[in-house]
Amino acid sequence: YPPELIRNFSIIAHIDHGKSTLADRLLELTGTISKDSANKQVLDKLKVERERGITVKAQTASMFHTHNGKQYLLNLIDTPGHVDFSYEVSRSLAACQGTLLLVDACQGIQAQTVANFYLAFGEGLTIVPIMNKIDLPAADPEKIAQQLETAFELDTTDTLAISAKSGVGVSDVLGAVIDRIPPPEGDPTKPLRALLFDTWYDQYVGVVCLVAIKDGKIKKGAHPDASKLAVTKCADLAKLTGDRITSTHSQLSYEVSDLGIMYPEQHPCPSLQAGQVGYVVLGMKTTRDAFIGDTFYRDGHRTEAFPGFQPAKSMVFAGLYPIDTADYAKLQDALDRLTLNDASVSVHKETSMALGQGFRLGFLGTLHMDVFSQRLEEEYEAAVINTAPTVPYLVRYLDGTERVIRNPAQFPEMEELGRVKAFAEPMVNGTLIFPERFLGAMMDLCGSHRGEQQDMSYLDDERVIMKYTLPVAEILTDFYDQLKSRTSGYASFDYEEIGYRETDLVKVNLLLNGKPVDALSCIVHRDQSERVAKEWVKRLKGVVERQLFEIAIQAAVNNKVIARETIQAVRKDVTAKCYGGDITRKMKLLNKQKEGKKKMKTMAGGVQLPQEAFMTLLHGK
Ligand code: GDP
Ligand code: MG
Repeated sequence: YPPELIRNFSIIAHIDHGKSTLADRLLELTGTISKDSANKQVLDKLKVERERGITVKAQTASMFHTHNGKQYLLNLIDTPGHVDFSYEVSRSLAACQGTLLLVDACQGIQAQTVANFYLAFGEGLTIVPIMNKIDLPAADPEKIAQQLETAFELDTTDTLAISAKSGVGVSDVLGAVIDRIPPPEGDPTKPLRALLFDTWYDQYVGVVCLVAIKDGKIKKGAHPDASKLAVTKCADLAKLTGDRITSTHSQLSYEVSDLGIMYPEQHPCPSLQAGQVGYVVLGMKTTRDAFIGDTFYRDGHRTEAFPGFQPAKSMVFAGLYPIDTADYAKLQDALDRLTLNDASVSVHKETSMALGQGFRLGFLGTLHMDVFSQRLEEEYEAAVINTAPTVPYLVRYLDGTERVIRNPAQFPEMEELGRVKAFAEPMVNGTLIFPERFLGAMMDLCGSHRGEQQDMSYLDDERVIMKYTLPVAEILTDFYDQLKSRTSGYASFDYEEIGYRETDLVKVNLLLNGKPVDALSCIVHRDQSERVAKEWVKRLKGVVERQLFEIAIQAAVNNKVIARETIQAVRKDVTAKCYGGDITRKMKLLNKQKEGKKKMKTMAGGVQLPQEAFMTLLHGK
């Protein structure tokens, strides 16, 4: 296929606006999948994606369509639907020349529509606005057109109005893709230049890479002269194999053992060339060797790399521990298997006095963390203890050096604090979209999460779009839940990272009889330390059982106690409850006490805390 007969496009939409449904219809119309295929939403492959109705991993599919007498190769490049994966979204978009901006004709523009629009706009893509769900009685196409003009200054005269569900208007979408979106530029005769924009792990062939070929071509298969060669020397063996390509980032060289297009499953082809999008199998052992945004070139023929490469960056860290310490190896196994397919999760070993041996995991964001935890529980078939999530804070010292803190245990101790000039925390620019009647509630929510208003305007006669800078740490907690509950689900929120800002941080230590419980300490803004301290002390009181001695539960900042609760001692003789007599009942009680002890963890202060208490403390909201 020459580049002029190729179109590479994506669909951007807010969750539930119909991206997967439209993709299914396009694949059906082009005969790529059958109409009665039971496997609807073919692009959302993972179970967790189906359950949550979101797209986590990008999926790509090619289709063929004849338009005005010519057959075109259309590549639909799906993008992850959530801001946690914004770097992956921008790389997928870099593989396209245009995008379908899909908006629900009842709900209108939502925060994610805005965030994804700007990513596409930033890549210089041709944007085709489409209103979906026009079959619904509540659809209001005029209002949506007004919103598109106000928010994005889009000319809406050519806006398509469709029902992805019934199929009305969907064939016009294929026409618009061919007529309005420019073909890829690129020269098949130039040296190879390929952008790696997605990867996954396949249990049979290993790592599969999705690439967009900008220039040149990649071939596979035996050398044409293979049969004539005497296969005796290594040099001859090399000629039997396919191309070898090198990663600009790692400088590792790979043999192309398989390649092809996604149709919609892997469909082998002899070569991929400039303008095409497809998969290559390079014999990589783990997705950690595949860097999204990387550039491949043919061995020895280095070409200019694609700009803006950045490795996956963790924005949220949490400790992960087996409930039963004997399950450590099993947990390690499950983690190894899962991270094969998700190289954006960082894993380091860590030890906690309270919880034993575990791991510190880094995620791209909170959704990423939730999705991964859910997958882990399925894979590992047991519950785990996650410590409270924390963002990467910076400590800036008087001598000009800097250090990142990913765990409250790394927070400077008293003696070190004297050398600290300032702390800094990561910030985001947040966009909120909601009906005007929730204005007060939303300003209140952002204000109480240390937000600062930047901008506010109206999308139409009743919807407000508001911009706030917010600390990432504040949106890790109850921000989303509050946003949804205070607006009955009518508000949407999305954000982009904007780097670090200096802030006043302290570490709150939880103490049991004067001894800190490391797994429960946390880093907070100084203004919140008292509220957090009181809350944690109360929660801890709810799970610590009475013991033979009095227990002091305290929260301290810099060795100064700022909250306290006390649990009275229980009487020594457990059998005292039996009112004498019944020996079997007495034995039962004694056994029960022994059994209880097994699962107990003795804290440094001599206080016993059941492992399950950590579950209640850290997960119970
Ligand atoms: P995604 O999150 O953007 O991928 O959205 P989905 O394609 O999963 O669609 C979300 C929901 O909207 C599903 O229940 C679809 O059946 C429904 N839906 C999608 N398109 C239409 C449409 O044109 N009309 C109606 N009535 N419902 C639709
Ligand atoms: Mg979907």
